Amino acid sequence: MRNPAQVPQGLYEKRKAVCPSKVDGKFRRLKWAVMIACLAVYYITPWLRWDRGPYAPDQAVLIDLAHRRFYMFSIEIWPQEFYLVAGLLIMAGIGLFLVTSAVGRAWCGYACPQTVWTDLYQHLDRWLDGDRNAQLRLDAAPWGPAKIARRTFKWAIYLLIAFSTGGAWILYFADAPTLWGEFWTGEAASIAYSTVTVLTATTFWFGGFMREQVCVYMCPWPRIQSAMLDEKSLIVTYKDWRGEPRGSIKKAEKNPGAVGDCIDCRQCVAVCPTGIDIREGPQIGCITCALCIDACDRVMAEIGRPRGLIDYATLEDAESEKKGAPPTAHWKLIWHPRTLVYLAIWSALGLGLLFMLGTRKHIDLAIQKDRNPPYMVLSKGEIRNAWTLKLKNMENRPRPMKVSIEGLPGAVMWTDSMPREQAARELTMTVPADTTLPVRAYVMVPTGTAGQDFAFQLAAQDADGGGDRSETHFSTPGE
Ligand code: SF4
Ligand code: SF4
Repeated sequence: MRNPAQVPQGLYEKRKAVCPSKVDGKFRRLKWAVMIACLAVYYITPWLRWDRGPYAPDQAVLIDLAHRRFYMFSIEIWPQEFYLVAGLLIMAGIGLFLVTSAVGRAWCGYACPQTVWTDLYQHLDRWLDGDRNAQLRLDAAPWGPAKIARRTFKWAIYLLIAFSTGGAWILYFADAPTLWGEFWTGEAASIAYSTVTVLTATTFWFGGFMREQVCVYMCPWPRIQSAMLDEKSLIVTYKDWRGEPRGSIKKAEKNPGAVGDCIDCRQCVAVCPTGIDIREGPQIGCITCALCIDACDRVMAEIGRPRGLIDYATLEDAESEKKGAPPTAHWKLIWHPRTLVYLAIWSALGLGLLFMLGTRKHIDLAIQKDRNPPYMVLSKGEIRNAWTLKLKNMENRPRPMKVSIEGLPGAVMWTDSMPREQAARELTMTVPADTTLPVRAYVMVPTGTAGQDFAFQLAAQDADGGGDRSETHFSTPGE
């Protein structure tokens, strides 16, 4: 018979339900404020309008995949300017490093979508099922008609929240009021319905059921952040030198000085949204939401002991506090060399992007020369080369533009839309708003002209002006 010690254990521990208690305090109120701000920005942004004139969409923030444009208030990004979006993404990454270096895992604790939606669902649980003990009782109760009815009702509301999350996301990709109408009348594109379905399912499952398991087991960011934290990073810390040995108030009264400040009430564990005990030291499951600080501060106030048994502290500060030094103010702990380096890189990137945005050209000329044949000899001996010119107008209004030949003496040009008899050294045409206009241009030189370099010059003819220039080569026989 097999020795029980040799029987393989399951690979995964069974999930214990995490039903955090209600708590109030300054960090809880901050969490409320961040949650409301994040949800408001997410749901309201697609409905904001921004007048760009008659030739461009009037949605303030729009990712227009069909026309390959990204609109953000007065900024319009074209596909070839994707470096600006890449720069913004790099800034967001460095911004996360900056926040981590200054205030630890504040992103995880307050603003990460998984945290925000999990928090929302946990409030809903408390609202519908009662506080922690009532939830645990209901969780342990056998399934019967009453429990099935309560669960069905709650999951229906979960689904509604998840659906509104997925539904709001698609509004960033098309005109929100139009898509809203089309969605409900079954006229929206199938990709809209499939996106909403996928996002509804993932929000329902990740926020409603997986919750802290996403942070502990699936998300790579806690691992990266843990590697970034050092002795100067602010983290939520239990001051064991002050709290241990734990003992009840009665014990403390009987033996003054024999026990620490922690009365082992487990309030800090009860309010933790990831279900961990911060008194066991820093853990990957701690998202640094600081709700345990609020809970413990309340307990300390009730029993008349100083607040801060659990508090934000750096390892360095914790060590010196252990030796009797007073705690350093939090705002001073934020500023250390690594934070300043990240801040410098982040600011330099931001300024660089602003400079590029402010100095970018709003018209552009790209050319492509016909390679086959490179030249053509006409009936009277003149030589002709052909190009495709691409005139780009990035403004939201049509603009008159002049294309001219710079160099190449004696050369004239014409296009597909004009007779050769009207050929000239410069042509004026109107480029529609927000468009790249392709133009077939034929350049002709007199007999005997040698092959040589020259340039096409583009100049806007309205008050705003601006221009571009592209060099090329005129090919002739015998080159
Ligand atoms: S809330 Fe404070 S006193 Fe209560 S168990 Fe946690 S650390 Fe100890
Ligand atoms: S231990 Fe405290 S700070 Fe960490 S997740 Fe739990 S409640 Fe938030």
